[in-house]
Amino acid sequence: MMDCPFCQIARHQAPAQIVYEDDRTVAFLDINPVSRGHTLVIPKGHYPDLFELSPGDWQAVALTAQRVAKAIKAGLGAEGLNLLQSNGPVAGQVVFHFHLHLIPRYRGDGLRLGHRSPYREQDFPETARRIREAL
Ligand code: AMP
Ligand code: ZN
Repeated sequence: MMDCPFCQIARHQAPAQIVYEDDRTVAFLDINPVSRGHTLVIPKGHYPDLFELSPGDWQAVALTAQRVAKAIKAGLGAEGLNLLQSNGPVAGQVVFHFHLHLIPRYRGDGLRLGHRSPYREQDFPETARRIREAL
């Protein structure tokens, strides 16, 4: 897509700190990092979100993410790492070209990404049934 910022990065038509690239994916530093080495992995193909992403490109993104995660750990001394990926405005998605966040974690970094506020499930079997039947 012409006016998609991540398509522009994939085509090298916008500035980015690219750390890895192959025929299907690009990994580059998030311009507004939450920790040192915060990286985004994208497919070169344009898909708005996980719901649209092709299985083959999802596989390619997953492989790149693991490879770059290991490099972040080795190269920056991260002790851990969170994967984060948002789909839809309600989930906080801002850029509508699928991307997977690699968020390196360092002791004492103070990030609270895993902070969960509870949802009180009324009917586990019904919830599970609805998902199973939609598959
Ligand atoms: P979200 O859609 O909520 O996952 O957020 C989009 C992410 O993309 C944010 O973390 C931004 O800092 C990041 N971002 C937006 N534009 C750029 C850019 N041109 N280069 C690198 N990262 C970007
Ligand atoms: Zn795009």
